Amino acid sequence: MDFSGFRYIVVGAGFWGLTLAERIAKLKKEKVLILEAKNHPGGNCYSYFDKETNIEVHQYGSHIFHTNNDRVWEYINQFSGFNNYRHKVLTKYKNEVYTMPINLMTINQFYKKNFTPKEACGYLEKEAMDAHIDTPQSFEEVIVSQIGYPLYNAFIKGYTVKQWNQDPKDLPAYIIKRLPVRYNYNLNYFDDCYQGIPKFGYGEIFNRMLQTPGLEIRYNVDYFAIRDQLPKDAMIFYSGPIDKYFDYCFGELSWRSLTFISETVPVNDFQGTSVMNFADMDTLYTRCHEFRHYHPELDYSSLMKTIIFYEKSKETKRGEVPYYPIGLKKDKEIYEEYKLRAQTLKNVYLGGRLGEYAYMDMHQVILKALDLFDQI
Ligand SMILES: Cc1cc2nc3c(=O)[nH]c(=O)nc-3n(C[C@H](O)[C@H](O)[C@H](O)COP(=O)(O)OP(=O)(O)OC[C@H]3O[C@@H](n4cnc5c(N)ncnc54)[C@H](O)[C@@H]3O)c2cc1C
Repeated sequence: MDFSGFRYIVVGAGFWGLTLAERIAKLKKEKVLILEAKNHPGGNCYSYFDKETNIEVHQYGSHIFHTNNDRVWEYINQFSGFNNYRHKVLTKYKNEVYTMPINLMTINQFYKKNFTPKEACGYLEKEAMDAHIDTPQSFEEVIVSQIGYPLYNAFIKGYTVKQWNQDPKDLPAYIIKRLPVRYNYNLNYFDDCYQGIPKFGYGEIFNRMLQTPGLEIRYNVDYFAIRDQLPKDAMIFYSGPIDKYFDYCFGELSWRSLTFISETVPVNDFQGTSVMNFADMDTLYTRCHEFRHYHPELDYSSLMKTIIFYEKSKETKRGEVPYYPIGLKKDKEIYEEYKLRAQTLKNVYLGGRLGEYAYMDMHQVILKALDLFDQI
């Protein structure tokens, strides 16, 4: 493979890498080569329209765009308009459906009450006091000291165990500051002023970004297999896992991954909503996605098929592209060592969710990439 003639090389075609590549090609008018290990752009945000049903499938799980940042919103709108989808999350617990995050509706339904906001707040304060936790020492205790055991056991415990494969008693307190609880009937999951799903899907955004003159992308290329062949003076932007970049010299960071089980079900509407969480410990899956609900503007009324994904959390094997940083105390210490090492590199920038070992949403990685572009 010939890599000559490229002064800018981006590793990973997720939102972080693509934003940098697009800006460099468009504004610096330089040639940029993107190397992507997968066979498509977009990283975890990739989606495609299923040919048979015209349903947009989010291949790595539901992605809802949301931001309060004008710069990010203006940037992303160059590539796509957005529909008016507003995300709501439901959760099944003991065969009953509740709304998430915990809000006045959840509280009243769970306790079979008709509390006002003030009454609900007072009730949960009492539940929390009954737990007798003065100084929370674990993830579990932080939450219980806020809402008490009954709501915690119903909605948080089972989901957390399934998601992280750890007893919440063993998870450190610092990973959660406060659980978002709403003492009103606002059922929207996000509060941001800009929200929605790209009208023509995420896949279309990536295709449009890639049409920028000067950009070239090569798929199914692992950076580590060809890094010795790259021009020595090229500027590298790397968005893979930071521990892998340094060959795990300070140790392995903990990551978590997901598995999706996809089904096409012969009904018009399977669950009546885009995401249903499963709070019970004995339900194998953490949630179920039904993608047709992300495009309320499209007419699926006569469609007798719907596409669903059951989601399950799993361990990340060394070398796999992971989904989430876990971020235990030991990870923070290891990450600091990698970060210091990364700062000594010349002409190499590590970033994005995996390169910074941070849970970031789409708008956050886009903003990070725009800010980095301003500095180079
Ligand atoms: C299940 C799930 C749901 C989410 N839902 C939302 C949501 O609703 N809203 C929201 O805003 N955000 C959501 N996010 C977060 C969102 O996915 C991230 O913010 C975004 O993907 C980060 O982009 P990135 O470019 O940093 O990383 P990624 O999207 O992970 O892209 C990194 C790319 O680098 C490539 N790569 C890695 N190593 C190499 C290598 N050695 N050689 C070549 N290529 C390599 C990978 O294949 C990948 O394509 C969700 C994340 C997950 C996992």
